[in-house]
Amino acid sequence: MPMTASSPFDLSGQTALITGGNGGIGFGMARALGAAGATLAILGRDPVKTRRAAEDLDGMEVAVSGHVFNLKTAQDCEAAVREVLERHGRLDVLVNNAGINIRKLPEQYSEAEVEAVLSVDLLVPFYLSVAAFRAWMRDNGGSIVNIGSLVSEFGGAQFAPYSMAKGGIVQMTRSLATAWAKHDVRVNAILPGWIDTNLTKSARREVEGLDDKVKRQTPAGRWGLAEEFGTATVMFASRASSFTTGTTIRIDGGYGAAI
Ligand code: NDP
Repeated sequence: MPMTASSPFDLSGQTALITGGNGGIGFGMARALGAAGATLAILGRDPVKTRRAAEDLDGMEVAVSGHVFNLKTAQDCEAAVREVLERHGRLDVLVNNAGINIRKLPEQYSEAEVEAVLSVDLLVPFYLSVAAFRAWMRDNGGSIVNIGSLVSEFGGAQFAPYSMAKGGIVQMTRSLATAWAKHDVRVNAILPGWIDTNLTKSARREVEGLDDKVKRQTPAGRWGLAEEFGTATVMFASRASSFTTGTTIRIDGGYGAAI
């Protein structure tokens, strides 16, 4: 559908902050939000990668900014939201996409590793959401799109802290949606299946047989692509989903539906 100003999917005049927007799934979502008319603020840890991604998106007819943060604490999250507000004057859409994983058996993790995964994958999305909400209370409402995982719903022997965090993302989505619906703030989540990105390239190298297993267990018979997250993100970000909050959608080639 073309994104005309009257389209319910139109995001003209709105600003979206996409954490991890400098690559992988986040870059796919940023591109789609830009195509729907949103000003883009992409955030990552790596300054070179973030600058290059911002340059790649620059060809779109929307303003684009790159923000370099290694998000860990509530203060980092407040600073990131403040920087976007200073740069663009407003924030309407927050995509909590940045994530890490460390693969080990549960008994092999150090305390620092468990805390690092829970921090980036769960606490940072919470603190960013609160920082955005505070801005929205002074201003307009907004939409938050959280990125979970299939392990929001299933367990995994090799990534207990990651699945603890991703399970928490779904409950956080429901709780924030419940708290903030009356303030015109909607909160939804996307749960990706196995997607071909840097995150899973390393898993494919380290876990023998993973490529075959993913293709066999995914009814679509293939890995998903980063660009396959754009339309659902635009839907959750825009008034196309004005009465949808606290929900999750799987984008997984049928993986979560199969036995
Ligand atoms: P990538 O590894 O390609 O991207 C992860 C992104 O997160 C990078 O842009 C990285 O920035 C950023 N990031 C990580 N830690 C921080 C931090 N502390 N502060 C700021 N930015 C940070 O992974 P994907 O695109 O695959 O993953 C995106 C999301 O999708 C994650 O939440 C992941 O858990 C989820 N997901 C992915 C699946 C898959 O199969 N790929 C499956 C299920 C869920 P930089 O590169 O600059 O370090």
